[in-house]
Amino acid sequence: MTRAIGVVLALLLGAGVARGQDLWPGATYDPAIPTIKSVLGHDFGEEISAPEEIAIYLKALAAAAPDRTRLVEYARTWEGRPLHVLAIAAPARISRLDQIKADLKRLADPRGLSSADQSRLLGELPVVTWLMHAVHGNEISSSDAALAEAYHLLAARGDAMVDTILRESIVLIDPLENPDGRARFLFQNKLGRAAVPDGERFSAEHDEPWPGGRSNHYLFDMNRDWFAQTQPETRGRLAVALDYFPHVVVDLHEMGGDSTYYFAPPADPLNPFITPDQIRWLETFGRANAARFDQRGFAYFIREVYDSFYPGYGESWPIFNGAIGMTYEQASARGLVFTRQDDTTLTYRHGVVQHFNAAITTAHTAAGNRERLLRDFLEYRRSAVVEGEKAAAREYVLLPGHDPGMAGRLARNLAGQGIEVRLATEAFKVGTREVPAGAYLVSAAQPSGRLARNLLDTHVPQPEAFVKEQDRRRKKRLGDQIYDVTGWSLPALFDVEVVTSAQALATASTPVRATPDPVTSALPPAKVAYLLPWGSDTPGAVIALLRAGVRVHQASRSLTIGTRTFPAGTAIVRVAELGAGHRETLAAVVGRHNLPVVALDSGWVDRGISLGSGDVAALKAPRVVLAWDAPTSSLSAGWTRYVLERRFGFAVSTVRVSSLGRLDLDKVDVLVLPQGSYGASFNDDAVRRLREWMRGGGTLITVGEASRWAAGEKVNLLDTRLELRGGKPDVEEKDKKPVDPPSPFDYDKAVQPERERPESIPGAVVRVKLDQEHWLASGTDGETQAIVEGQRVFTPIRLDKGTNVGTYAPKDTLVVGGLAWEEAQAQLAQKAFLIHQAVGQGHMIAFAEEPNYRAFTEGTQLLFANAVLLGVAY
Ligand SMILES: [Zn+2]
Repeated sequence: MTRAIGVVLALLLGAGVARGQDLWPGATYDPAIPTIKSVLGHDFGEEISAPEEIAIYLKALAAAAPDRTRLVEYARTWEGRPLHVLAIAAPARISRLDQIKADLKRLADPRGLSSADQSRLLGELPVVTWLMHAVHGNEISSSDAALAEAYHLLAARGDAMVDTILRESIVLIDPLENPDGRARFLFQNKLGRAAVPDGERFSAEHDEPWPGGRSNHYLFDMNRDWFAQTQPETRGRLAVALDYFPHVVVDLHEMGGDSTYYFAPPADPLNPFITPDQIRWLETFGRANAARFDQRGFAYFIREVYDSFYPGYGESWPIFNGAIGMTYEQASARGLVFTRQDDTTLTYRHGVVQHFNAAITTAHTAAGNRERLLRDFLEYRRSAVVEGEKAAAREYVLLPGHDPGMAGRLARNLAGQGIEVRLATEAFKVGTREVPAGAYLVSAAQPSGRLARNLLDTHVPQPEAFVKEQDRRRKKRLGDQIYDVTGWSLPALFDVEVVTSAQALATASTPVRATPDPVTSALPPAKVAYLLPWGSDTPGAVIALLRAGVRVHQASRSLTIGTRTFPAGTAIVRVAELGAGHRETLAAVVGRHNLPVVALDSGWVDRGISLGSGDVAALKAPRVVLAWDAPTSSLSAGWTRYVLERRFGFAVSTVRVSSLGRLDLDKVDVLVLPQGSYGASFNDDAVRRLREWMRGGGTLITVGEASRWAAGEKVNLLDTRLELRGGKPDVEEKDKKPVDPPSPFDYDKAVQPERERPESIPGAVVRVKLDQEHWLASGTDGETQAIVEGQRVFTPIRLDKGTNVGTYAPKDTLVVGGLAWEEAQAQLAQKAFLIHQAVGQGHMIAFAEEPNYRAFTEGTQLLFANAVLLGVAY
């Protein structure tokens, strides 16, 4: 077709569309490239494209322009939906894409790069711009913008900007990071849709029921999962990142519909591992977007709300690999039309248009700065090595310690995100400290050193001025401006001890890979029993054995055989109890979980309890119910379900809270209440039923806000109380006397609230002391770390009522990383973290905080697994 026809098509596309609603005024398109309308039956922004339609259109584009595209399925979601990335570049680049990817990797490792190679790479290589869309499934316009971006880049004719983009860059378009969430959103939106789409924000098409479309199948916020890599979608994206080492990365989101548009530069605070060069680039990209938005008359804001501190965002993780990472946020119509507070109407199409303009402008800005961006990327990776060489912690040594499985898990996590990790094959010394073979080494002096330091340092500081401002705000009871957690140190949360060395360590070592080598060694012969030390890998293995019918016991106190002492918690499999095929099952499970197993030919113990002692408990696979749906917190419910099902392999029934009353509790061993506000969900009779069920042997596990509910005066399932600020119990005050005004009058005192919850902690990592004599602490060394978020302080339970299995450390050693105000530290120190209360034959187990936080808190996840698995045995 001629250009004239293309112009006519463009005019038709724009016909009937209000000002500012056309994609790119003046664009003409090649009719050989199929429009979204010709493939899916609706135009850009006319309908919310379904995940399946997005895949269909991508394939149609790739088929129409095979010389300029490469379409790759990079992962599958839990619900089986494909995730795609479409590479768009000039034909000469697509035909050599594998060679170019090899060169991009070469550029990402400046060590040993000759100046001739460097000049060649900087001269030849394209800049890679990665546009990712809709990690939150209800942030819908992002994906339709992505389809428009791909169409525009492939079909635009005579467009100087597109020509520059294709000449200088490779654009990677991931149109939909969260297909499961989008499918969930769309199902509800279409189910609720009026005859004519309704802009009322509380109409059924906008107002999402629990859990909403934001999260994935396990209800994770995948924009927090980048370094944790718990979800298959995230792991797939990390593989794309390490395949291309993109230089510019944009994660396109949506925010509340009354807002406008947000792009970089971000709000304070910035992570200290972002360099001045990167900050300058954030401004360059921001200014280019601003110019485009000004030209089109689109409102926007910068430097507000969206910070760049936590390293697990889609925008921030790539930053620490050297990219310019940015978040864009479009006001969401959360449907096809949305009536704003000011009575104007926001259309879905408008969101598509704005995202599209920001994305294309960004790709053009990147292309126009190709060589400078490549040079600065190289410099980021080079200076990371140099800075690492000078760092006080030049080498991090992860000690295998009491739970080698935990250190191995952390090492593989780091390796999975492109950080070089070595396994020491010999013993060595760091200063005077003896380190055994089997320790892991991570050098800060590597191209990914800033990412490694971000994750391995105990504390990543926020700028002093920012902290001071938050202090000022809290004293006035203004909300803080902290967007996410302030502590995330992985060694602390995996409970792995780290020693650091200022010198490089030349220890014999082998590289660690992300996937463990399968253990092939056969089960050693044993006449009497196999002992499995308890640790982070044991609950999963024991559940697998129990579900396969293998009998497993647990020593509730320590025992010594010869020179070897097995601590309380050690699992015991008696040879005489092994049935047909059980030996093979045991061998397979022990191998799969990489458990060190000790074979015994005699039951004679030298000290401690015997294998046949009354203090050895018989374990059984518990029947577990997890409370689901409103009023639970979807994040907490999802994390809990994931940790139970996928991390440890429990069989779990998830039961809606509204159906719990009809559940036959006699068939349930363990009921888990994730965080939520249960006040209206359990009447007195329901609470009485729970108590009766516990008396008969049931284990009730409450988490965070659920524990708060259980400790409430009226519910009283937990025999302790929450504290108010200052330490008074949070109970109803009878005979309240009027408070005399301070004399002489003191304004500051007079304005203090009378009843107030404790100072809030915005997600810090704190130390917890554990009672190793209690079965809930099986597999620990008496101490672990937890994430504390919020305002819950539980007074420790009295000795006659229960056991404080976990208490927060004294104030001077309490905070490991992150921000916790002095007053908060003082009140939290030595208060209860994990409470056990025997109730008849059963148990009440309360976690003050979330033990399964984002599923990256391995240390407290072990305590949670113990609670679920061991209650039935004690
Ligand atoms: Zn979002």
